[in-house]
Amino acid sequence: MRLRQFATLVITVSTALAGLSACGLKTPPASRPANNAPSPVAAGSAEPGPGAETASPAASPVPSGTPGAAPKGRPAPVVNNGSRSGNKVALTFDADLTEAMQANLRSGKVKSYANTRVLDVLEAQKAPATFFMTGKFMEQYPDFTRRIAKNTGWELANHSYSHKGFTPKCYDLGQIPPAQMAGDVSRTAKILEGFGGRQSKYFRFPGLCHDPAALSALGTLGMTVVDGDVVGGDPFAKNADAIVNAVLSQAKPGSVVILHCTDVTAPVTDLALPRIIAGLRAKGLEPAPLSEVLGA
Ligand SMILES: [Zn+2]
Repeated sequence: MRLRQFATLVITVSTALAGLSACGLKTPPASRPANNAPSPVAAGSAEPGPGAETASPAASPVPSGTPGAAPKGRPAPVVNNGSRSGNKVALTFDADLTEAMQANLRSGKVKSYANTRVLDVLEAQKAPATFFMTGKFMEQYPDFTRRIAKNTGWELANHSYSHKGFTPKCYDLGQIPPAQMAGDVSRTAKILEGFGGRQSKYFRFPGLCHDPAALSALGTLGMTVVDGDVVGGDPFAKNADAIVNAVLSQAKPGSVVILHCTDVTAPVTDLALPRIIAGLRAKGLEPAPLSEVLGA
């Protein structure tokens, strides 16, 4: 009987963890499914395959006074949310692309990781949003990235080059050597700036994994680290209701909601999104660009 109770507990805990995001846990366990885990093939995507697109954005430098710019030299500051007194909330979408995911594209196992349906919903709902882009995703999907940059209500932010971990044990994301961390983020910033649009100096760590060493490594870049306070739990979700409930039950003024615009690894986010936006507005909360929520 005791053994059976223990087994039930283990299953319950495992199930709970499996429903959470690699980008959504503050203190991740050593090994569990992450955003680069092998995934089923996405059906119905119109995005061209790997190599079909070539990034050729026009150069446009980031002006001074860019949202998220932090004093240089000290460890990068970390924020989770904005003012609780207003009515603004930030819908943020991570665009992950790892080496393992690229291997799935090359082999044809996955057709596309770009969830254009998320952009369709946000456009239809006229909802401001902020996108944390990995360098690899921008290179793989320049048209998707240009579409984001063209929307004046959408903000661009940095999510590392190849979505590797910045701490020794960040799910199964591997780790960037500390000496290469600043270079990885700078490289991504250069790609991001090339797309123009509404630029920011916000950075989100892959898997939200950071420690004092990682924050110090990024200290000279003048960036603000954004974790967030509402985990949507959309990676590998099959049930849009659970995502809707997770967001609407946690969101309050100043909240930063963590979601994903990656198809296949977050396949039902677009189905949850109309109800999330309607539910927020019913609560008197209005989506806004991250810089406005954080008061930059
Ligand atoms: Zn991520």
